[in-house]
Amino acid sequence: MTNPLPISPRMSYGQMRHVLSTAEPDLHVRSAQLPGKLDGLYCLSTNTVLIDWRITYTRKRCALVHELVHWRHGDDATHGCIGGRNERRCRRETAMLLINPAEYALAERMYDGEPHQMAAELNVTIQIIQDYRQWLHDNVTV
Ligand SMILES: [Zn+2]
Repeated sequence: MTNPLPISPRMSYGQMRHVLSTAEPDLHVRSAQLPGKLDGLYCLSTNTVLIDWRITYTRKRCALVHELVHWRHGDDATHGCIGGRNERRCRRETAMLLINPAEYALAERMYDGEPHQMAAELNVTIQIIQDYRQWLHDNVTV
């Protein structure tokens, strides 16, 4: 990624939308009713991120950051977010953007590593906790 995204782990979904509307005026973020289990989608040709309006704000927050990472990399999501190297990279970067390492460490101690409670504490989905944990695991130097 060339420029860092103008977001931080403490921002709510509403704050992210607000910051993006001024910092990235060429990017469009819209609410929509997405098919199937899709929480978000990035369309390269229209430079638009769509977020399903029926999901919780925690899920919206995670879906928005996920699609922002695709946007920054110019990944065309018309193929959908199913597997592949781009998707693994996107999930790793999404987790790193949504989680503050110090807060993660604190939550891990507080809840004894229990992912549901950690996810609630950090305002992310369990998937994000799992992706972050995977990244930590991959980067352990023995
Ligand atoms: Zn994706």
